[in-house]
Amino acid sequence: MENNKYLVEDCFALTPRDVGWRYDRIRKLGINQLEGRNDITYWFDDMDAPTCLFVSVGGHDPQEFKWEPVELTFGESAYFYCKCGYKARKLFLVPNGFEFKCRICQKLKYRLSSMNPNSVAGRAIHTFDRMTKLIEVRENMARIFYKGKYTKRFNRFLEHCKVLGFNDVVDDAQSLNEVIQSQKIFTKPVH
Ligand SMILES: [Zn+2]
Repeated sequence: MENNKYLVEDCFALTPRDVGWRYDRIRKLGINQLEGRNDITYWFDDMDAPTCLFVSVGGHDPQEFKWEPVELTFGESAYFYCKCGYKARKLFLVPNGFEFKCRICQKLKYRLSSMNPNSVAGRAIHTFDRMTKLIEVRENMARIFYKGKYTKRFNRFLEHCKVLGFNDVVDDAQSLNEVIQSQKIFTKPVH
């Protein structure tokens, strides 16, 4: 019996939108690779009237999910069914796992589900939690510059720092940016 202690935030979540169920994306025939996760492939039983979605992680035997399209006023949406029968909007994959399941089947908890976020301790933990997450994000950032400017990701990181009150980080980034921008002026050809 597997006994995992994963949180929702630790897992990769699959939504119907991820598998191309959008008008702004071309639905491709045959086997597709999931965007951003080339170890995951998916395909439908029938492209015109799909009833089943197949998903394979890392070349493992595909899982079959009942697929239920939903007509909306604008566009289209869908549900898939976990093998337990739960009609899901999200299916989760635990780190290094190869089976998508609903949150209950994966026994996932939300990060702060046992804390009252409005209590003093709860708020402190929440801040600490976000801080830890930010450090992780920063560590995984391959680069912070692109074409002489901060990347969108790094700017988002700075926004989060600002919200949490890490003004030193934000100030440092600002001064660094100023230095870089001024250097750009110096390297311009002088006529
Ligand atoms: Zn389930």
